[in-house]
Amino acid sequence: MPAKPPEDANPGKAKQVTKSCPICGTPATEASKPFCSERCRDVDLNRWLSDSYRIPAKQDDDDTD
Ligand SMILES: [Zn+2]
Repeated sequence: MPAKPPEDANPGKAKQVTKSCPICGTPATEASKPFCSERCRDVDLNRWLSDSYRIPAKQDDDDTD
C-alpha cells in the first residue's frame, strides 16, 4: 500500500490543491496562478509597484527650520 500524502486524507478537499487568487479570492488557474487571471495578476503587479513607491526613504531626515 503506497503512502498517501496528508492532503489526500482531507475528504473535503480535492486532490489538486487550488490556491485562491490573492486579489479576488477566485480559485487560481494553471495559466495564471497564483492568480485567477492575467487581469488579477496585473492588479497585483500594480499594487506591488504602488507599494514600492510608497516606501518612505528616510535617509536624509534633517529637520531644517
Ligand atoms: Zn482574481
